Amino acid sequence: MNNRTCDRCGKSIAEGELRYIVKIQVFAAYDPLKITFEDLLRDHTWDIQQLLKQCEGMTEEELMRDVYVDFQFDLCRACQKAYVTAPLPKPAH
Ligand SMILES: [Zn+2]
Repeated sequence: MNNRTCDRCGKSIAEGELRYIVKIQVFAAYDPLKITFEDLLRDHTWDIQQLLKQCEGMTEEELMRDVYVDFQFDLCRACQKAYVTAPLPKPAH
């Protein structure tokens, strides 16, 4: 028996029963950089120091989550219907 559980409602999904998989990737988007010849000649020591200061006190996991996170969920049929209707619920505030 390889029963799964819906990650949204907790209902058991029996083997052979219709099941949906949700894969979510969240990653930092960077626009293409325009690098000029002057940029290449400039000393970037200060920029690098500022970047390192921003990273101070953050764990490796926190730094990774700032760049890339992925999730995978199993959904039952009812939750799949609800999910595709509103995949991005509005913030509570
Ligand atoms: Zn469900």
